Amino acid sequence: MNKQLIYLIQLSDLDTQLTELNMERVKLKEKEIGFKLHAKEKEIEKLRTNIRSKIDNDMLIKYDKILERYKYRAVTQVVDGVCYGCFMELPTEFISIENKNERLIHCPNCRRILFWID
Ligand SMILES: [Zn+2]
Repeated sequence: MNKQLIYLIQLSDLDTQLTELNMERVKLKEKEIGFKLHAKEKEIEKLRTNIRSKIDNDMLIKYDKILERYKYRAVTQVVDGVCYGCFMELPTEFISIENKNERLIHCPNCRRILFWID
């Protein structure tokens, strides 16, 4: 698998966790937010900064645009020919692409970055 793609998957996972933490925060009242939540968020931010420094700038720009639109899961898995971001079946020509994980392929419907697990 393309190294940049691996970093993007990791980054997407962290951003999804941050979004979940923010949702948790909305549910709780500000004074009830525990130390644990803050500590977790800080840790995620640290990892996130580190991973972002390893990703090419043009890819980060694309990634950020997708994240801005959807708030989470900017990089998503394809399962049985279906994009797990928007749950649309991908056109059949996607099945025959060789070494799919060696480059960045976007879902033609939602534009999320796709990866395949055998
Ligand atoms: Zn999609």
